[in-house]
Amino acid sequence: MPSDAALEFSEVSHRFGETVAVNGVSLSLAPGEVVCLLGPSGCGKTTMLRLAAGLEVLQQGEVRLAGRVVGSGNGFHLPPEERDVGLVFQEYALFPHMTVSENVAFGLDNLSRAKKEEVVANVVDMVGIDRMAERYPHALSGGQQQRVALARALAPKPKLLLLDEPFSGLDSRLRDQIRDDTLHVLKQSDAATLLVTHDPEEAMFMGDRIVVLRDGTLQQEGPPDDLYFSPVNRFVAEFFSDVNHITGRVKNGAVETVVGIFETKEIADGTEVDILIRPEAVRLVPTDEGSSKYQAEVLASRLLGRSSLVHLCTCRQTDEEIHLHSRMPGRFLPKEKEVLALELDPNQTFIFPAV
Ligand code: ATP
Repeated sequence: MPSDAALEFSEVSHRFGETVAVNGVSLSLAPGEVVCLLGPSGCGKTTMLRLAAGLEVLQQGEVRLAGRVVGSGNGFHLPPEERDVGLVFQEYALFPHMTVSENVAFGLDNLSRAKKEEVVANVVDMVGIDRMAERYPHALSGGQQQRVALARALAPKPKLLLLDEPFSGLDSRLRDQIRDDTLHVLKQSDAATLLVTHDPEEAMFMGDRIVVLRDGTLQQEGPPDDLYFSPVNRFVAEFFSDVNHITGRVKNGAVETVVGIFETKEIADGTEVDILIRPEAVRLVPTDEGSSKYQAEVLASRLLGRSSLVHLCTCRQTDEEIHLHSRMPGRFLPKEKEVLALELDPNQTFIFPAV
């Protein structure tokens, strides 16, 4: 069936010797969509990007750009320069002997000089480096170099942009700013974007959709909201934040633990389960205010800026000693040994059969 997807992977697998880098991944990007490939080091993100760019020859499956097959496991391989994709890598790879303008104009050889100048002027303006157009890369900060790399990738108006950890060389304040600017620029361009990152916060900030990979296998894909609030497995749940772990057994469609009761309709009675609770799902209230009979004692409280992290223990309330983290908004610093009631948000607690 013809598709209007900007990029499609169908059942793509790729090996390096014995290592399976990508294992049967199917994935599609709509025009204009920003999709983040997220996963730990070595899970196959960069290999997926290189397969889309044509920098690796596909071994199995099919890759299509705007409906056209550009690589297939039966030996067809369109070279990178014929694929109409823009690339930005971690190290930016600017040409040191060329000015910003010349770097940005690099992929525009087929245009007249006047048209080339017009395109360069527009794109350097769009990414906010118009005042540096005549500088050389060595005279630019990391953030400015990142903008030049993005401008160079955008200048030929590719249908697809491939960004490999494009912000990882920047310090954290600058990174937030450049991410923000980049998202605005990407949304102004019509290009679909596939962005590789190992940072879940970055994926949530940048992505219309996130695709989580583990050992070359697609675990889950969807809008950030789905992945955060409805992870399909423990790996996805744990990848987005630290979690509290509790174990239990299902009885009459629920699991009773020392910190609360968790309902589960899908898991059969008698099954041993692991319960994962995000720290922000643990709300703390004074014992005389809350309706919850579940309580814990404060071990330590720390202000982290926009939120506070409270370390808790169920040691004095029950025989079962469980340590919990609660992340409360703003400044919330109960004293050591204070006893507080626990109210758990079921939308941020996840139950999986124990392995
Ligand atoms: P990182 O975040 O560390 O860059 P990644 O998720 O991008 O990791 P890939 O670079 O795609 O992962 O690598 C996937 C697997 O394939 C890893 O086990 C890696 O060691 C292996 N691999 C990647 N490129 C090659 C290569 N050229 N030769 C041999 N093995 C490779």
